[in-house]
Amino acid sequence: MGSSNSKFSVDLKQLPPGFHPRRFSVRGVGFAAFIWQGAQPGPVLLLNGATHGDEYEGPTLLRQWAEDWRPKNLRGTVVMVPVLNEGAFYAGLRANPADDVNLARAFPGDARGSVTQRLAHLFDNQLLAQVTHYVDLHSAGRAYELLPWTGFITHEKSINRTQRAMAACFDAFWCWDGPFLPGRTLSAAHARNIAAIYVECRGTGAVDPCDLRNLSRGLRHLLAALEFIPARHPAKLRTQIQRTTKDADEAHLQIHHPAPHNGLFVPTAKVGARVRRGQVLGTVHALENLGATIVRAERSGRIVMGRIQRSVRKGDALCTLAPI
Ligand SMILES: [Zn+2]
Repeated sequence: MGSSNSKFSVDLKQLPPGFHPRRFSVRGVGFAAFIWQGAQPGPVLLLNGATHGDEYEGPTLLRQWAEDWRPKNLRGTVVMVPVLNEGAFYAGLRANPADDVNLARAFPGDARGSVTQRLAHLFDNQLLAQVTHYVDLHSAGRAYELLPWTGFITHEKSINRTQRAMAACFDAFWCWDGPFLPGRTLSAAHARNIAAIYVECRGTGAVDPCDLRNLSRGLRHLLAALEFIPARHPAKLRTQIQRTTKDADEAHLQIHHPAPHNGLFVPTAKVGARVRRGQVLGTVHALENLGATIVRAERSGRIVMGRIQRSVRKGDALCTLAPI
């Protein structure tokens, strides 16, 4: 398909109703997408997994849906990209080792840049440019564990209301929204005025079956709430713990409780636990000498993300606390 005068290599508007596997690619980077085109026109929802290559919940969920989901009476278009960052995914790493650029800091990308910058540019210009709603499925990755949450960038009123409603669909997860941070998929969506949310799963390099069920439940609610599929009755959503912050640093996960030096990290507090400011979170042991540096809580709050990989380099984030 695709008309000769379209600026899109796969023009979603031109696809006939039905299921369409497609590949998006340019100059050595690309990703596979599964597209369902409804018989009725409507909104366009994009979901992707593996923005980071060591996060497996999103890819597993979206593969399952691609295999099983054959919707009747679909309105609009649903696009699923199970693995966005193939270079990082095959390396089993957060970033593609070819350039070691974090895809979640590379947006809006650069058509003439490194592989990851080109990938960001491709995704932004060929897919985000065509959608009305966006969900980026993340997790803590191999080195961390987190208390599953959904979140978004605080936006102007009407988009914010939509984002809040989208996040509420993932009702097994708590909700964290905050100010704009540059470089993310959601920053690119924000610039295009697309209603967009993150969903963050447990991580640890595994796929928690409970997370997977909760993701599927959330996705069903979302498809009904945005009227892609007819809902026989309104969903009974559980009430979420909600946290809105104006502090850009609060939800910036990579900056809290940095490792004071290289060594072996021994955590002493569990993800999900509530701690007081000054409480011991763990110790870091240099390999060359005895003794340890104690890591204490910067603030009181709940541990929403913690490092599980025991080897640490100076500056690696060990723990994130949120006041929930
Ligand atoms: Zn991620």
